[in-house]
Amino acid sequence: MSDSSETMILEDGIARRGLMLVLSSPSGAGKSSIARNLLADGSGIELSVSVTTRARRASEIDGRHYHFISERQFLKMRENDDLLEWAEVHGNFYGTPREPVEQAMREGRDMLFDIDWQGAEQLGGKMRSDVVSVFVLPPSMAELKDRLHRRAEDDETVIEKRLVNAAAEIEHWRDYDFVIVNHDLAKAYGEVRSIVVAERLRRTRRPGMYDFVTTLIGS
Ligand code: 5GP
Repeated sequence: MSDSSETMILEDGIARRGLMLVLSSPSGAGKSSIARNLLADGSGIELSVSVTTRARRASEIDGRHYHFISERQFLKMRENDDLLEWAEVHGNFYGTPREPVEQAMREGRDMLFDIDWQGAEQLGGKMRSDVVSVFVLPPSMAELKDRLHRRAEDDETVIEKRLVNAAAEIEHWRDYDFVIVNHDLAKAYGEVRSIVVAERLRRTRRPGMYDFVTTLIGS
């Protein structure tokens, strides 16, 4: 993996490293809606489109929400080291294709990863200084169940499986940099947006600040 410090993003003429924003939550906690808002708001962050062996939902577009691939194709990608991270979630395989992320980092673009705790752990291990991780909690387990039913995109056995797995996923909240509770989508989205704004300003992400300050004070 090339280091994103190779290419810097210029903000107000000051160089900064690219940001890798990881969003995780149990299914139904609203992470995808938050991600959708973030991608549409002009904040200049791009989605890393994962590969998955799960069946496509009616509302999903191949190549946009996921690249839907066979298990054979997945195992081949994994074997060829074409995945930056991967995990088995709810009985299906998911993974982040390596090349688009490396290209984004080379070109100095911020990326959003909608991945589970296993993926977050792998990315954090490889690219700690670029990764910012956010865990989204539902306000209650009853609300989570309601949301999964309201979404009505999975059949009952799939929903049951996701609910059983939810508690185990939530156990990993401590491993994240930020934790938010999604009582209200607009508020939760605003909180994630604030994290992006703040993380872009983090001193350690802005090596260009040294030159700027040197010029500023003329030393
Ligand atoms: P869903 O089937 O609801 O789209 O996703 C199920 C879970 O898999 C979600 O928690 C989602 O964040 C996670 N997921 C999606 N893509 C990836 C990926 O590329 N890697 C990992 N580790 N998890 C993923």
